[in-house]
Amino acid sequence: MTAEEQQQATPPAEEAAAAESGEQVITPWDVQGGADGKVDYNKLIEQFGVSSLTQDLVQRIERLTGRPAHPFLKRGIIFAHRDLHEILDCYERGEHFYLYTGRGPSSEALHLGHLVPIMFTQWLQEVFDVPLVIQLTDDEKTLWRGLEQAEARRLARENCKDIIACGFDVNKTFIFSDFEYVGGAFYRHIIDIQRCVSMNQVRGIFGLTQDDNIGKIGFPAVQAAPSFPGVFPHIFGDRKDVRCLIPCAIDQDPYFRMTRDVAPRLGYQKPALIEARFFPALQGESGKMSASDPNSAVFVNDSARQIKDKINKYAFSGGGATLEEHRSRGANLDIDVPWKYLNFFMEDDAKLAAIGREYGAGRMLTGEVKAELIALLTDIVGRHQQARTQVTEDIVDAFMAVRPMHSALKR
Ligand code: ATP
Ligand code: MG
Repeated sequence: MTAEEQQQATPPAEEAAAAESGEQVITPWDVQGGADGKVDYNKLIEQFGVSSLTQDLVQRIERLTGRPAHPFLKRGIIFAHRDLHEILDCYERGEHFYLYTGRGPSSEALHLGHLVPIMFTQWLQEVFDVPLVIQLTDDEKTLWRGLEQAEARRLARENCKDIIACGFDVNKTFIFSDFEYVGGAFYRHIIDIQRCVSMNQVRGIFGLTQDDNIGKIGFPAVQAAPSFPGVFPHIFGDRKDVRCLIPCAIDQDPYFRMTRDVAPRLGYQKPALIEARFFPALQGESGKMSASDPNSAVFVNDSARQIKDKINKYAFSGGGATLEEHRSRGANLDIDVPWKYLNFFMEDDAKLAAIGREYGAGRMLTGEVKAELIALLTDIVGRHQQARTQVTEDIVDAFMAVRPMHSALKR
């Protein structure tokens, strides 16, 4: 077993024990903070064996692209990576790379947490001008969430519209659903990957048990395969040397540890990763906003009224219990959900800093901070909804068509 593989997720029984004993649990299906209720990202870096994304790497991205860094990079929201410097070396030498990200369609619409990797991926595509593949794992949601196939396929198409509304370049972006696209080169890669991974390894990495359906054992190869250019002959021809960079939240890391372990055996380079923190659940940082827990989430199809109600009623506040206490001690920004959300999406650095200062000192009240957040989210979601109305069925077909895209590699 390689060092990378030994950085494993915890099997369910041990996972339950870990959660009970107050240890954090982070898997592709579950996020639970540690004893203090928070996710310890430094610990996660160590546990998963990823590298922290330092400001000199951020500055190197700025130098190479000639563009100011995305706020997610400047604010440490994108905080970890694997081999990012190798991708940047590639780019500097004028060689090609491509981006790969995905979404498991388990809800009618995306939530704000999904926008983090999706918006960041859109930015990466724009500044590096590279091809992008987006996988919709409708098969995964059928295996894990018990969705009927027809429903999972429908949701994949609906989610696809939300993704397109985030501004991807149709000439360089291929979006595919597993139910539709598995076959041919994709299937041949899946089998090659499955041949390299034992049942013991899958159990170790993903914590599966004897009672899980057998589809779950095979699925990780389906998510692994698009890390290899050979899966997309209509984009890359027969090239095996194009490197892949995967933007995602850190919960997806176990899939790509497995992929990286297999890559050299299939004659490929390891995919590189660039990983985000979790956009917290409304209830607080102990969990991530998740489509499978609708109470935890603000969705991009929520109305202005729903956004207002959710933030006012549910967004966990670090403000003082009474006005007097708040004025004297200030808000605890460390645990305050509205403050965290503003850090993700408020672009104006100076305004953000001012809110942090005033709120932290107790001069600004939770209600006022929530009002700022509601205005910001209503605007973002409103603009998203407007963009989505422009995404016709024909446009979806255009993004999802298996078509020659060799010009996507030109830059
Ligand atoms: P489900 O609850 O059904 O698993 P999900 O909300 O976890 O859905 P996925 O479709 O499994 O979402 O994940 C799609 C992508 O979005 C992945 O890259 C994942 O890491 C990322 N992602 C999901 N939730 C969050 C979040 N709260 N913050 C940041 N990224 C997220
Ligand atoms: Mg998930």
